[in-house]
Amino acid sequence: MQTVQKTAILRATIRSWRAQGQSLAFVPTMGNLHDGHLSLVSKAHDCADRVVVSIFVNPTQFGPGEDYARYPRTLEADQVGLSGTECDVLFLPAVETMFPYGLEQTVRVKIPVLGDTLEGAYRVGHFDGVSTVLSKLFNLVQPDYAVFGEKDWQQLQIVRRLVADLSLPIEIMAEPTRREADGLALSSRNRFLNTVERARAPVMYATLCWMRDNYFSGHARAVVETAARARLQRAGFEIDYIVIRGATDLTEPEEHPRTGLIGLVAGHLGSTRLIDNLLFDA
Ligand code: AMP
Repeated sequence: MQTVQKTAILRATIRSWRAQGQSLAFVPTMGNLHDGHLSLVSKAHDCADRVVVSIFVNPTQFGPGEDYARYPRTLEADQVGLSGTECDVLFLPAVETMFPYGLEQTVRVKIPVLGDTLEGAYRVGHFDGVSTVLSKLFNLVQPDYAVFGEKDWQQLQIVRRLVADLSLPIEIMAEPTRREADGLALSSRNRFLNTVERARAPVMYATLCWMRDNYFSGHARAVVETAARARLQRAGFEIDYIVIRGATDLTEPEEHPRTGLIGLVAGHLGSTRLIDNLLFDA
């Protein structure tokens, strides 16, 4: 595996692959890699001849007061982890490479409505930062496939919309959420949980499962959402949202559909913000 920081070298390497007729899959990350990330790399390898992984902690997707400064940066361990995978190139751009005109003057890509709800409402501007940096990374790497985790469900819908609306010739692939044995979704932020918080954290996924079962047993959506919120609050969470939505457009469903739904939750345990989701399969 080659580690590349300069875009000229990245482009030359990719040009040489393309000259041999090879296909390319891309996995964008912010590093502090765990098995969830590595499952995306494995999927990328299933899709294409060559795999590029990027690690870039993107300042434009963190709001003021969020955890940009303390976001875990573990490059050496990440390189060791990736060296055991099929990753061909690890791309590590500098902030100045991604934002040559500075953060204030950068072109911004915004996805209205879909990017303004749920995570977008609690992290204002977050998805503008995500869409912007992914547009840049997609232009640098020009992959045939890009692989994302269902863990960040709304982000996955945003990426699909970005690619469709800007007519980018990239196929978006999704991988299921990898979890600890007790159900907690793997996340770079789990390391911030203290022992008591870590013991409580699995209640988030358990509540999503409980919410699905109660919805399918006939209870009204609003009733289930309210009860789920109370359940998580009793377990010590401070909840931003816990909702049942249409899985693709994330709007509130009318009536009581039995297909095409997802439960989505975001909440704080102490100073750590966790998100999770569960597709409702009847
Ligand atoms: P991040 O480094 O947190 O920006 O995540 C990079 C990619 O890994 C995104 O597509 C995430 O959705 C995905 N990812 C993060 N956690 C998991 C997980 N537990 N299982 C599967 N994919 C994940």
